[in-house]
Amino acid sequence: MEKRVRVRFAPSPTGGLHMGGVRVALFNYLFAKKHNGDFILRIEDTDQTRYVKGAEEYIIESLKWCGIAPNEGVGFGDGSHAPYRQSERKEKGIYKKYADKLIASGNAYYAFDTSEELDEMRKRLEAAKVAAPQYNAVSRQNMRNSLTLSEDEVKKLIDANTPYVIRLKVPRNEEIRFHDIIRGWVVVNSSQVDDKVLLKSDGMPTYHLAHIVDDIEMQISHAMRGEEWLPSAPAHILIYRYLGLENEMPKLAHLPLILKPDGNGKLSKRDKSGLPMFPLNWFDERTNESYAGYRETGFFAEAFINMLAFLGWNPGTNQEIFSIEELIQAFSLERINKSGAKFDPEKTKWFNQQYLRLKTDDALAEIFSNDTNIKNLNPDFAYLKNVCRLIKEKAHFVNEFWDLGKYFFIAPTIYDAEVVKKRWNEKSKKFISALAKNYEAASSFGAQHAENIFKQTCEEQQIKTGEVMQLLRVCVSGVGGGPALFEVVSLIGKAGVVNRLNTAVRAIV
Ligand code: GLU
Repeated sequence: MEKRVRVRFAPSPTGGLHMGGVRVALFNYLFAKKHNGDFILRIEDTDQTRYVKGAEEYIIESLKWCGIAPNEGVGFGDGSHAPYRQSERKEKGIYKKYADKLIASGNAYYAFDTSEELDEMRKRLEAAKVAAPQYNAVSRQNMRNSLTLSEDEVKKLIDANTPYVIRLKVPRNEEIRFHDIIRGWVVVNSSQVDDKVLLKSDGMPTYHLAHIVDDIEMQISHAMRGEEWLPSAPAHILIYRYLGLENEMPKLAHLPLILKPDGNGKLSKRDKSGLPMFPLNWFDERTNESYAGYRETGFFAEAFINMLAFLGWNPGTNQEIFSIEELIQAFSLERINKSGAKFDPEKTKWFNQQYLRLKTDDALAEIFSNDTNIKNLNPDFAYLKNVCRLIKEKAHFVNEFWDLGKYFFIAPTIYDAEVVKKRWNEKSKKFISALAKNYEAASSFGAQHAENIFKQTCEEQQIKTGEVMQLLRVCVSGVGGGPALFEVVSLIGKAGVVNRLNTAVRAIV
């Protein structure tokens, strides 16, 4: 019988969750939902020296904002299978058992080397021109461990509370084969693999041991994670094998890297392409660095998620806009690429623009009504909705609305200098005055009426529409461009427009 799909997102709380991490979470989420499985949040906090306060809360809030909440794990679910934090699981002795089992079967050993001794080893190997100095089947023979020391000596050291780590005993020359859903069969010689530390001297497991124990105990069916973990996978295979758990191990899928916009290297959290690298604003107390978030920059979570889904995956069709439900339906691990995915800031903004266009005017007005500028003016909601209808075409973000359309709320006091210079003269000034009068006399003020009156005034004043069209816009809005002119005129309304035209006649010299 196929295992129930259970996947996990297992970040370390060592900082804010950057967008690469969100993508890992997203792919896990989509896969879990597609197969009616479980999506678990596990916090891998075994490296206490790198623990950053607030990171865990940040991760939880980010997943919620993105709409990809786990159904089980830290901060989610009913907690009946807690704990999901590795530091708490360690307290229950979960990992030690497995490390002891590996020691007992001769597949792991105690190592008592001090950091000075390890440094010396590295220097020795470097001097001997060893390409990648590491603690392995060769070098361990010259170190202080339970493979080189007598049983008695080992016992004495342990009884005297000498600090030790437990290391995986990797064979010297053996082929390790494993299957990755995205990369196919991977073959590595064990000489490339170091004797990884499994249990640290403080009794904490390392990631290598802890995630394996947890994946087994949490019955994880698929382990999906970033490509940076691929080099460690051969060691993980050995651990599963030595624990007799190879048949129970999750299927592996290493997701492609996210690359810089120019394709040159991995996207870094300090990328300068102008868009955030984090889902939410993040302030790192340790380094005093702050990072902008997609949420605060004005992105819709759906647009951010849609963009992320396409970083390394594609549906195999031309469709680009996918709701989360559609992503769940279309998603498959087979359609994830092996090669790195370039982050495209322009495309990212494009996604937001598409989502903005899909919103109803009501929804946009609702968001726009939170803009502090608008809040102070407290306009009529129906009016706000109409403004949104007119200005949304030009915007990528709702937070651009104020700049694009503030003249709908406040009469201009400055006028586009270029247009004024080109079009303002005695004749056009006379025209604007005449138009103000004709507008004042108008009985209706729909866009079509406003346009008819404008044309009729042009005829009366013997002036070409092309000479005064943009000028009219500048007199009404202050700016040289914007939505359909007579829609603007009609929405601002008769009284407002007449006022603005008369003001312009007085103000523009
Ligand atoms: N704690 C690891 C990380 O932060 C998890 C890797 C995995 O999913 O196995 O990347």
